[in-house]
Amino acid sequence: MKRTPEYPTPADAAARQARTPVVAYSDTTLPDPDLALLQRARDTLTRQQSVLVPPREARTFRVPAGAFFRIISVEGPQVGDLNLWAADNLQEHFYSGKTRALHGTHLSTGDRLWSRFPCLRPLATITADTLDWYGFDADGGSVHDVIGTRCDPYTQRLLAGHDYHHCCHSNLTRALAAETGLSLHEAEPLVHDVLNVFMCTGFTRDTHQYFMKASPVRPGDYLEFFAEVDLLGGLSACPGGDCGSEHSSDTAACFPLQIDIYQPDPALLAQRQPPPVSAYDRTHGRFGDQSASASPSRGRG
Ligand SMILES: [Zn+2]
Repeated sequence: MKRTPEYPTPADAAARQARTPVVAYSDTTLPDPDLALLQRARDTLTRQQSVLVPPREARTFRVPAGAFFRIISVEGPQVGDLNLWAADNLQEHFYSGKTRALHGTHLSTGDRLWSRFPCLRPLATITADTLDWYGFDADGGSVHDVIGTRCDPYTQRLLAGHDYHHCCHSNLTRALAAETGLSLHEAEPLVHDVLNVFMCTGFTRDTHQYFMKASPVRPGDYLEFFAEVDLLGGLSACPGGDCGSEHSSDTAACFPLQIDIYQPDPALLAQRQPPPVSAYDRTHGRFGDQSASASPSRGRG
């Protein structure tokens, strides 16, 4: 939050503030996701599996490379907190901050979900978004953000002074532990900043604080992804429901979310390979250090 300035305004303040913004990361040199090919594959989808995420809970799901999955609103407006891991290496997971830097604050069709260092490759590509009509509203809000983190019991304890166990962070931790056999304490550090599916968020115009408003999602809406690598996903049906009032409590009306997994005609994508991990040599400028130049470590999966 901006405070009242304590220091004098310099004479050239207006000129300094009038400099032209430069987009920090050009999106013209990003690898092309070949959306035209993915759109052709979409025409051949057959549903393989369906997973229902109960309200105020999370569930995991697996999607093989080359398959598609949809997160679908059912029964009522509901926000979902999405985590993605490379199925063979849970240390390689979605990197919300770099995805935000590359694509912007809110994601839609054609944007990709990038993985953390040292891999930095697309784990998934968004191929359809029935809320793409929403754009940015008069408050500066939009849907599917990568600016929030996830509701969690630590911030709840900090701000409200009591414990709540069905925040998305805890839901995802329990679900990942159940899926992998890891203990809760082993699973928790693998839970990461999310894609806030269907959530409507922005920053207030005056104080630039993170805000949320009731999601415009309605039953039947979906966000669809193409799995670039073998994926383990986790989705929490946020205790905030449509996130129009409060989260981190049992107050809001909450609804389930559905995840459908689809296979396209395999012949269409036979030539498509999972994207390689970053080719950066990881020497960080310390030349001759052989121990630092190995390929990315493969953690427990
Ligand atoms: Zn939440």
